[in-house]
Amino acid sequence: MSWGRTNIINFGGGKSQLASPESYISKEQTVETFSSKLLQEAVEEFSKLPGIGKKTALRLVLHMLRQDEDAVKRFSNSLVQLHENVIYCESCHNISDSPLCAICSSHRRDSGTICVVEDIRDVIAIENTGQYHGLYHVLGGIISPMDGIGPADLTIEALEDRAKASQDIQEVILALSTTMEGDTTNFYLYKRLKGLNIKISVIARGIAIGDELEYADEVTLGRSIIHRTAYDKTTTG
Ligand SMILES: [Zn+2]
Repeated sequence: MSWGRTNIINFGGGKSQLASPESYISKEQTVETFSSKLLQEAVEEFSKLPGIGKKTALRLVLHMLRQDEDAVKRFSNSLVQLHENVIYCESCHNISDSPLCAICSSHRRDSGTICVVEDIRDVIAIENTGQYHGLYHVLGGIISPMDGIGPADLTIEALEDRAKASQDIQEVILALSTTMEGDTTNFYLYKRLKGLNIKISVIARGIAIGDELEYADEVTLGRSIIHRTAYDKTTTG
């Protein structure tokens, strides 16, 4: 256990009758559980973050409480500033500081190749391999009916428009997760793009089925891009 009860007791107003941290963070939380509505609200906000449960949320909130006021203001300001001022590249939809991101505006990149990825974490992962020198297209997710995400929620139409408008693009590389949703999205993109006289390839499955791209090691991911195969050879459909 990485967080101590002493902290809870300090901030919880001496609720020494609590038997264990688990009982303190039960599913049914009330202001009484937390002794403070402010504390409860902060924990609820943190626990909305992906991968953060209630116990971790409490640990993070208590950590922030121990920081001095300037540190907390810097933390919250950086998020507000990011949210207010972030720009998405109008070409590839990567997070950017200007209308055209550093990759799209670089003359050293091969504008004939577009690598389609789920989100910015995949751009970072592929850039770290040092094996890819083309451009990207960030979809903003993958098609997932279970989560209510359809093609219209992603930047698929923008990709199609981009491919139609450009004279340069010769190849689109599909580099999505090797999950069922990734496969569905690959197939959908293939159907949308196949009439455009552009080579459509898919990264080699060096990545185990079910793996998400960002967790693949750099060597494996680099190889899977180099050894990509034509999409129509990977499917009978
Ligand atoms: Zn861009």
